[in-house]
Amino acid sequence: KLYNQVQDLKGSIRVYCRVRPFLSERSSYVSTVEHIEDGNITISTPSKYGKGCKSFTFNKVFGQSVTQAEVFSDMQPLIRSVLDGYNVCIFAYGQTGSGKTYTMVGPKDLTEKNQGVNYRALGDLFVLAEKRKDNFRYDVAVQMIEIYNEQVRDLLVIDGSNKRLEIHSSSQTGLNVPDASLMPVSSTSDVIDLMNLGQRNRAVGATALNDRSSRSHSCLTVHVQGKDLTSGTILRGCMHLVDLAGSERVNKSEVTGGRLKEAQHINKSLSALGDVIASLAQKNTHVPYRNSKLTQLLQDSLGGQAKTLMFVHISPEPDALAETISTLKFAERVA
Ligand code: ADP
Ligand code: MG
Repeated sequence: KLYNQVQDLKGSIRVYCRVRPFLSERSSYVSTVEHIEDGNITISTPSKYGKGCKSFTFNKVFGQSVTQAEVFSDMQPLIRSVLDGYNVCIFAYGQTGSGKTYTMVGPKDLTEKNQGVNYRALGDLFVLAEKRKDNFRYDVAVQMIEIYNEQVRDLLVIDGSNKRLEIHSSSQTGLNVPDASLMPVSSTSDVIDLMNLGQRNRAVGATALNDRSSRSHSCLTVHVQGKDLTSGTILRGCMHLVDLAGSERVNKSEVTGGRLKEAQHINKSLSALGDVIASLAQKNTHVPYRNSKLTQLLQDSLGGQAKTLMFVHISPEPDALAETISTLKFAERVA
């Protein structure tokens, strides 16, 4: 118990893994996931030399039948700590199609039952704030931005304007992207409206074959300010819910021009993120935050007292095996 409290004070890094189910048209495939037990996952890695397997250990592994509600309930204590003044970062990592957006937002045919973490997290903060209303007054506001080719864009604009934003922390407002729209929210319907706006803006410029959302990082930031009604003390907490760009390696001989540049930016920022989290996990004194826009943006919510959840996603299909192993190795490095 005491150990847990000490861990708590120092902040922490957790790593979870989720396996998505087969998509219906590919259900005849044999899963590469051989076994899941507690935090262990075993992947079968057949080669020309015969049957092989690799095991990895994380804080939690969710199999393909685990529901959105179950995933959320596991993350709930972490998310609730924002109301106590903690900074929290949750990252969805994995190759395109592995279920990152499903976990954070939900599927295209969104219902209350299959809503992802973003909706549930805000809904839950409202419920908890209401429960505490005799002692605290909470104000909640959100920002939603996208990082594409190392450029930051506001996703909560109504006019579709495409102004480039700068990252610079302002001690006055406590905001890292002070020029991005900051929208107060007080109900789940406010949240649904804003998420819809953000998702719509994220899709701008995308065509079916050119789904930009898989090549940009999107970040929903929830700012919470709580006032203790007896002492007047103000607590500030902030939570970043990040749907990362697809982690798949592109074959340099197959892409050129714009696609190659995109791939290089993604590669650079995901490895910068891996480097930051790995150096925090190893308690290094130097943490290389400056190497990407993503790590600059999240600098004050990574390390120190902050709590980090790296949530990696894998696809069960055999043709995804190489990416699955590479995702699990990334996760193992930061665990
Ligand atoms: P990503 O964001 O990593 O590219 P998506 O979240 O878009 O991947 O998932 C790809 C497809 O798989 C989508 O059609 C999505 O609805 C579906 N999917 C992903 N995870 C699950 C899951 N756990 N249960 C059911 N369907 C899922
Ligand atoms: Mg996605």
